[in-house]
Amino acid sequence: NTSVDEDCDYLFKTVLIGDSAVVKSNLFSRFAKDEFYLDSKPTIGVEFAYRNTKVGDKIVKAQVWDTAGQERFRGITSSYYRGALGAMLVFDITRRGTFENLKKWLHELREFGNHDMVIVLVGSKSDLMDLRKVEVEDGQKLAQLENLCFMETSAKDSLNVEDAFLQMITKIYEIAS
Ligand code: GDP
Ligand code: MG
Repeated sequence: NTSVDEDCDYLFKTVLIGDSAVVKSNLFSRFAKDEFYLDSKPTIGVEFAYRNTKVGDKIVKAQVWDTAGQERFRGITSSYYRGALGAMLVFDITRRGTFENLKKWLHELREFGNHDMVIVLVGSKSDLMDLRKVEVEDGQKLAQLENLCFMETSAKDSLNVEDAFLQMITKIYEIAS
């Protein structure tokens, strides 16, 4: 599942998933800020960005895929998940429904994704504490139950975004190496 390219030791495909408007694209653009390339596949309506990261003494090229909003209409196709070693599963801490729907997303991930896919559960909009509808403990409990990593993030305040990606990449590396 890992392929080697000229300037890196590993190449990992990862995907962003979750309900509409849970901040997937803003996490994506934060990640892609220092991108090496940003590209798109208009035929299947996805965007992806690459970034190199050093893990130990190895260079890991992480490719992150973002949807073009298909989750709102027809759902995400199996090609989106194909070959992905990691997934960032995002919900909005101010919208309870996006947390309730995680079960559906986990089901889809397990249906279409790799068995040992690294899943990082991300609660977004941690800057909106006053509007919180999902407690930190709820996220932690689900993560424990489903064996996921968990973090709350704010793309707006640039809080934990980098860490969430790094955690995902490092975990994949540990499994793949
Ligand atoms: P997507 O549909 O999952 O790709 O979600 P988007 O990335 O398009 O974001 C949805 C909405 O959330 C947009 O209106 C953003 O302006 C807003 N948003 C994004 N990041 C944050 C954040 O960190 N905090 C808050 N409060 N709002 C955010
Ligand atoms: Mg989006």
